[in-house]
Amino acid sequence: DHFDTRCAGSKALNEEAKTCIPGGVQHNLAFNYPFPLAMTRADGPYLWDVDGNRYIDFLQAGGPTVLGSNYLPVQEKVIDLIRECGPVTGLFHEYEMKLAKLIHRHMPAVELFRMLGSGTEGVMAAIRAARCFTGKEKVIKVGGAYHGWSDQMVYGLHIPGTGSFEAHGIPKGCLVATQEVHPNDIEALETLLTENQKQDGTAAVIVEPLGPESATRPVLSDYNRQVRELCDHFGALLIFDEVVTGFRVGLGGAQGYFDVRPDLTIFGKCVAGGYPAAGGLGGRRDVMATLAAGLESGKPRAYVGGTLAANPLSCAAGYYAIKAIEETEAHVKAGKAGDRLSQGLARLIEAYNLPYVVFNIGSICHLQTSGVMLLEVTDPNIFTEIGPRKQMMEEMGAAFSAEGIITLAGSRLYTSMADTDDVIDDALAAFERVFKQV
Ligand code: PMP
Repeated sequence: DHFDTRCAGSKALNEEAKTCIPGGVQHNLAFNYPFPLAMTRADGPYLWDVDGNRYIDFLQAGGPTVLGSNYLPVQEKVIDLIRECGPVTGLFHEYEMKLAKLIHRHMPAVELFRMLGSGTEGVMAAIRAARCFTGKEKVIKVGGAYHGWSDQMVYGLHIPGTGSFEAHGIPKGCLVATQEVHPNDIEALETLLTENQKQDGTAAVIVEPLGPESATRPVLSDYNRQVRELCDHFGALLIFDEVVTGFRVGLGGAQGYFDVRPDLTIFGKCVAGGYPAAGGLGGRRDVMATLAAGLESGKPRAYVGGTLAANPLSCAAGYYAIKAIEETEAHVKAGKAGDRLSQGLARLIEAYNLPYVVFNIGSICHLQTSGVMLLEVTDPNIFTEIGPRKQMMEEMGAAFSAEGIITLAGSRLYTSMADTDDVIDDALAAFERVFKQV
């Protein structure tokens, strides 16, 4: 009831939006329980809704804004560019090259880089390039990992018992060409690669390098290195999905963090500094060359398109955002904010004796019900409780937003450079108001 009164404007807008937009929102993240909030303003750590409520924003649009929302120096560069040439010409612009060179400087494994429209498109291009280069079809992913919403990668594809509700409308062929192994189970991966080897081989293994769903199930420290060795042994390409981790866990991404060199890297979010058309693919010169083959060499080509893929606007936004992260060390500051938030939440969880676990990798914080976290990291059942767990955390998310805190479904919290100690302390006071009532 409190929520209905406080957010009456959002509720009314959502009722109206439902008449012309499926569910009334454009993205699942916006579907906060009990109804979506309509925002009007974003600045640094804060959001404001149509009813004038201010929120501390730990959703951070799902991760692209390490500098904080609507970071002025980047915004000014973007506006300058729009004044000069508008958002797109369809032809080449120097910013595309500047961004590619800047990424290569921080991630040496990204020898060539191609901008795309979204992380999902980056994944599609990576898999196509890997298949084209290796001449093999099968791709192995880790159960529970999210790699966007293409037919071949959609979340929950094979995990039994999770409901897999996302996986309707997908051709059966995808279920054959995409295989899954349980998180952290390196032996299962080796077995599958061996079996594939006896048939038609494996084109690629794709991982979220921190672990499925941005480390909701964290990787064991040696996992990525072991996957690299197996890929080398079986001639499969290793693809790192750095959509969330790129420029967030460090300027060198998770590949720098773990010191493991992938063959291909998928980008999203930060790569366009929080501006639209945020996706990309980079990696080994010989593999990436398949994207231009035919144009250059007459070799087999992995076709990749996208009218707005390489627009100057998102390339300039990404370029200036990454430069700003370099100059301000935003990723370090965001990471410290994540530490302060997680440590504060851990104190509250203990003080109020709540059945939660909190942990963070820098600016990526997870708040989970403890039941599921007590299972071994290699336990095949780890995702079977995802349904009830998700609902419980979403209800918590609603309680948090009623106290002025936005999270990702109550269970994930991204911090940014704008989250100063004062902001985090205000947030912790709001969390405490909620925890007192649980
Ligand atoms: N990979 C990962 C690890 C992601 O978290 C996401 C998006 N949250 C994607 C891929 C898909 O990116 P996009 O939403 O830009 O298509």
